[in-house]
Amino acid sequence: MNFFSRSVLALFTLVFIVLAAGDLYTWRVIRRQAQEAGFDELAALARTARSHQLDLNDPLALHRWIAEIATSGAQAALIGSNGQVLADSAPGSTVGIKDPEIQQALSTGEGRSVRYSDPLRRDILYYAVSFAATPSPASASLPATSRAYVLLLALPLPDVDRQFSAMRRPVWAAFLILLASAIAVSLLDFRGTARRVRGLKDFAARMAAGDFRPLRAAPAGDALEELARALNETAARLNASIGVLTDERNRSAAILGSMIEGVAVISGDERILFSNRAFSRILGLDNVGEIEGRPLLEVARQSDLLSAIKLALSGQEQVTSEIAVGTVRPRSFAVTAAPVQASSHKGAVLVLHEITDLRRLERVRQDFVANVSHEFRTPLTAIQGFAETLLGGALEDPVNRRRFVEIIREHATRLARLTEDLLKLSRIEAGQLKLEFRPVSVSQLVESCVETAQLKAVPKQLALNVRLPDGLPPVRGDAHSLQEVLQNLLDNALQYTPAGGKIDVSASCSDGRVVVTVADTGIGIPQAEQERIFERFYRVDAARSREAGGTGLGLSIARHIMEAHGGRLWVESAVGEGSRFHFSLPIAS
Ligand code: ADP
Repeated sequence: MNFFSRSVLALFTLVFIVLAAGDLYTWRVIRRQAQEAGFDELAALARTARSHQLDLNDPLALHRWIAEIATSGAQAALIGSNGQVLADSAPGSTVGIKDPEIQQALSTGEGRSVRYSDPLRRDILYYAVSFAATPSPASASLPATSRAYVLLLALPLPDVDRQFSAMRRPVWAAFLILLASAIAVSLLDFRGTARRVRGLKDFAARMAAGDFRPLRAAPAGDALEELARALNETAARLNASIGVLTDERNRSAAILGSMIEGVAVISGDERILFSNRAFSRILGLDNVGEIEGRPLLEVARQSDLLSAIKLALSGQEQVTSEIAVGTVRPRSFAVTAAPVQASSHKGAVLVLHEITDLRRLERVRQDFVANVSHEFRTPLTAIQGFAETLLGGALEDPVNRRRFVEIIREHATRLARLTEDLLKLSRIEAGQLKLEFRPVSVSQLVESCVETAQLKAVPKQLALNVRLPDGLPPVRGDAHSLQEVLQNLLDNALQYTPAGGKIDVSASCSDGRVVVTVADTGIGIPQAEQERIFERFYRVDAARSREAGGTGLGLSIARHIMEAHGGRLWVESAVGEGSRFHFSLPIAS
């Protein structure tokens, strides 16, 4: 049952009860009035009848008297105090001394009662009045004592019900018409109200689903309109707040998502509450699916990471640790776990920061110091040893002393070269290398280096050929530094190519760059070491290089110089077949 039916039913019941109560009350009032009017009429009739001189001993006169009274329409009877009915206008009626009105009249002088008569189907008003008859002169034979008589008058009560129902019909009809019109009017009004309430209900449901578009309602100036306006304001405010929150969340997500550090928030029961892309990428969880909500132990195997989280969750401030990830190319990460307390929830924030380069640089620095010490120790030991030998008496030895001094000089030269190379390298790395960029002719550059190389090639039985295409454009560079690079490549080729081998110097031009190539048919470089030979002190065969007076710094310096020119230096090589070193330089504009 909807709201409308309930209100209509309530209204109907209320009006019906009021009307029924009114109906009953009116009926009773009318009935009482009718009774009183009837009794008044009977009393007046009795008074009139009693004013008549009557000989009670004359039955005929008595009957006449009664019949005369009955002409008024009322039933009349005269009853003696002994219960004898002396005369009755309706012979055969059941009047008797026991009737309550008669008893009442005998005791108080007057009695009234109302009784229903089945044959007449009507209430009958009974009115009794007692009187004492004084004996008439005609009845002087009778004892002189006065006797009590009761005159009973009965009158059917007018048909109050019929009268009343005639009056009642238009009232009820009016009620029904009124009720029907009230229902019709409120139904019309209710339809509109119900539609607006439904609109508000749908709007609330829409808001719950996250749609905050305002409700468009026609102005009605009532409480529903106020409610709609309040809801619209609520929706607008909610929308704005959600917008702000969403913006903030998106911004945080964008920041966390774009971070290269892996970030994760871990709950008190060691589950991942949040993690950014970098976190999944670092731990190789990209293909594992959704990791949020899963226990950290399930997705991360690094025991150091897990124990860092445990310590942070136990309340320890800022736990730091280090983990290695990956097997083919291991990467190092610094782990920072810090406890966080959000309302009643305890948790920890985990940050993974890559330190692979840092660790590599540390290793390079340590290796460098070790290499430098090592490189210096050999010549220094030799110098010290031979100097002591000379001082210990070899100075007097005319056969060996010259050789010993030559050895000392050789090692000193080597030390000087080493120091010079190291200085050069540190100058380049500190950006202090002074380069004067000018157009440099490639053929002139090659010629100036090949001349010296040719001198070394002949005794080693190596064929050195130069093949340069015509019309090569000049390159932009510092002639002296470029010479140094090419010289180094030629020296290496001469050094690592066995007798009978071949060295070719060539050049080509494409895409605005000139590529110079030094190719040899020497021992070649293993694939794994082709990139490492450009590192400082890195040598495939250290003993051989050292013997040849190499410092292991030449290619490292050469690569730095090329990079300072905006050029490149790279190698292609196969062990036992030879190596091809290329460097490319921009054409001078
Ligand atoms: P070094 O002073 O030892 O020559 P470099 O930096 O010039 O130092 O070269 C580093 C290493 O690269 C050398 O020790 C050698 O092992 C390797 N290398 C360089 N050039 C060649 C080449 N043409 N053929 C074979 N190995 C080479």
